[in-house]
Amino acid sequence: MTDKRIHNFNAGPAALPLKVLKEIQASFLNFDNSGMSITEVSHRSKYFDNVINSAVARTKRLLNLDDRFHVLFIQGGASLQFAMAPMNFLSAEDSADYVNTGTWSTKAIKEVGIVKKNCKVVASSEDKDFSYIPQDVKFSSNAKYVHLTSNNTIKGTQYQTFPDTKGVPIVCDMSSDIFSRPLDMEKFGMIYAGAQKNIGPSGTCMVILRQDMLDMCNKDLPSMLRYSIYAEKNSMYNTPPCFGIYTIDLVLKWIEEDIGGLEKMEAYNIKKADILYDFIDSSDFYRTTAQKYSRSLMNVTFRLPSEDLEKKFIAESAQKSLGGLKGHRSVGGCRASIYNATTMEGIEALVDFMKAFEKENK
Ligand SMILES: *Cc1c(COP(=O)(O)O)cnc(C)c1O
Repeated sequence: MTDKRIHNFNAGPAALPLKVLKEIQASFLNFDNSGMSITEVSHRSKYFDNVINSAVARTKRLLNLDDRFHVLFIQGGASLQFAMAPMNFLSAEDSADYVNTGTWSTKAIKEVGIVKKNCKVVASSEDKDFSYIPQDVKFSSNAKYVHLTSNNTIKGTQYQTFPDTKGVPIVCDMSSDIFSRPLDMEKFGMIYAGAQKNIGPSGTCMVILRQDMLDMCNKDLPSMLRYSIYAEKNSMYNTPPCFGIYTIDLVLKWIEEDIGGLEKMEAYNIKKADILYDFIDSSDFYRTTAQKYSRSLMNVTFRLPSEDLEKKFIAESAQKSLGGLKGHRSVGGCRASIYNATTMEGIEALVDFMKAFEKENK
């Protein structure tokens, strides 16, 4: 029943475009005239070949990727990439630079040690509770790569522009902002993103990898942990997450055909975030937790005057069909995740509710 759907501000898994969900529903029992559901067709069939090739082609078109880039689909979430990147790119003598901008960066740094490789934390915003993105960072000229987290889902900060790393390739966790804006791909050796924030269901991680990064990968790893195997086998060394890849293809089609590409997607995302931030800035009841120049367009984190009011706010908003506004369990407070699929209508409903709540509880 689509009329029972809520405005979904979940951080992940998160809202998907209604049009995509309806398309999945309509084709679910008989995909592409196969007489089977997409969850029943063989991954070695022409039906699935079409799906994965389309998802790769759309990714390349949307991000203007040239032939140096491979688009891979790997299971294990973004969290597996925290380990796979150092395992593949670093030898015993090498080191990588990491910038620590929050929970997910911290976890990525921890994994480097677990797989017994070296990294240097060249900057951190932990001194101010990860409320900002460090600027003017000095990177090591001999680093194999620089690891960044483009959008910090829990703390609500985001890189507005990416630093000049003097030719050292950036490996970037873009789990919560991939396809939310255009990118200058020259800086990136690898991008990875768990699908469940901005592009699909959980269970699939998209990895975009440049050929020179692939060339430097270690070869003494188990097959399932080697980027080169995924690249050689078009992500089908084993059974890939078929349903996830299918959904990603439909979401990318929606960005291409309904939104009109990443410039338009970004403009829409800015418009939505501005409405929410402008309202919060105009109020002395709500306050954002991220510093202004580092604020995220995807995750708007905010506090109310007390924790009791926050509890009340979350409970009452849920009754008004506004879901997922509770902050991450590690930080508390409130968070509206307003990814690509969040509608302007949802933002307006949220701001209306926030205004009414302020009036009643001030
Ligand atoms: C959610 C998230 C992760 C973890 O993703 P999984 O797919 O659950 O492993 C990592 N990084 C960022 C930035 C995230 O938002």
